[in-house]
Amino acid sequence: MNSNAAILNQLKEFIAFSTVSSDEKSWQQMLLCVQWLRKHFIEIGMRRVNIFSTSANPVVYAEYLVNPSFKTVLFYGHYDVQPADPVNKWHSPPFKAVIKDNYIYGRGASDDKGQLFIHIKAVEKLLKSGKPLPVNIKFLIEGAEEIGSAGLKHFIAVHKELLRCDVAVVSDTKMAGISSPAITYSLRGSLNAAICIKTGSKDLHSGTFGGYVPNAALTLCNFISSLYNADDTIAVPGFYDDVKIPSQHEREFIQANGIPDKKLLNDAGVFTLWGEKKYSLHERSTIRPSLSVTGINAGFQGKGTKNSIPFTATVKLNFRLVPDQLPEKIAMLLNDYVEKLLPGAAVKKVYSSFNKPVSAAVSSPYVKAAANAYSKVFKHKTAFLQNGGTVGAVDYLQTILDVPVVLMGFAQADDNMHAPDEKFYLPNFFRGIDTVIHFIKNISAIQNVIKSKQ
Ligand SMILES: [Zn+2]
Repeated sequence: MNSNAAILNQLKEFIAFSTVSSDEKSWQQMLLCVQWLRKHFIEIGMRRVNIFSTSANPVVYAEYLVNPSFKTVLFYGHYDVQPADPVNKWHSPPFKAVIKDNYIYGRGASDDKGQLFIHIKAVEKLLKSGKPLPVNIKFLIEGAEEIGSAGLKHFIAVHKELLRCDVAVVSDTKMAGISSPAITYSLRGSLNAAICIKTGSKDLHSGTFGGYVPNAALTLCNFISSLYNADDTIAVPGFYDDVKIPSQHEREFIQANGIPDKKLLNDAGVFTLWGEKKYSLHERSTIRPSLSVTGINAGFQGKGTKNSIPFTATVKLNFRLVPDQLPEKIAMLLNDYVEKLLPGAAVKKVYSSFNKPVSAAVSSPYVKAAANAYSKVFKHKTAFLQNGGTVGAVDYLQTILDVPVVLMGFAQADDNMHAPDEKFYLPNFFRGIDTVIHFIKNISAIQNVIKSKQ
């Protein structure tokens, strides 16, 4: 087996590909990265490795099948990453990973290259142990997770037989704390919208025209403020119609198992709080839906001043949805609202990332196998958490392959995923490898129990 230093060098190589899926200019890096993964899978001894093209970036598939009567574990991960912007806020180059104080820094260190690499190294360790694998292994690695898993639904549907498994494992979530492992049992859905308004045909001199022409920046700001009520709830009519009100029992479970407000406040590093006051911070970011303004573009953004009135302005919005909200329905509701609020202005609307919210059963033997592996390695009780994030693949794995999905995360809330200085705590990277090995052994124990009952 490789030394830890050699494994970290491999992870550094993996991080070095600037696989930003939202940037079309990254396509060459995408291709280089999938070739690297392919080569790596062959080197560790996987028996079949394929690169499949999809309507978005290619999917990498690898397998090591031992015995058709054994359980089959499918590991899912993604090699694409978020943009590194703002690059000047990083303390080290985003695509040249550095190791400092037990952390590896770099874009994708925790989301999701580092977490995915845990699975790959665990399987490698088992393959090199000299003993036959106790389960069949499959890997499904996509390159479009950060853009709503474009193309993945179709890919899974077409390759249902190839991907057939007993359980899918996804490591793209967080732990409850640095030494407190956690299994995620629900994820919010997601919908992105970009609304672009035009109030004329060109920018205008603010001295000559200021006072009698509309301003796209102002129109946009008024529109944005109309998206929210005074109590920070979302003002799009009908938005809450399908939101389930949590039972007292559920709220008590979340209170007992969820992350305390104090930690969440600390993780965020914000100066004040915002949101629905009658819910705890954990509830606000997990079982309640949210709407975030993720970008605004209007007027002169350069250095100094330029006195002109912008004729165009764009806002980017991200909804996080909870059961039983459907992204398609929310897009329609927003569309109606935009048309009502901005009737005269020329408005362009683009919707993307239609991901449904999902929940996973906590009682399955696979979840128990994961919780047991976690507790054994981390020497800490496994928590069960709801997560406010979205992993589009989970819905497709559950519904198309019809298998339980175990969400075993190894990242921390303050790992700066999607932000500058993304990092991953290395002791947990290595504990993660041991955890996945234990998990695989636990799965083989399930199959032995089933067999001895037959
Ligand atoms: Zn991710």
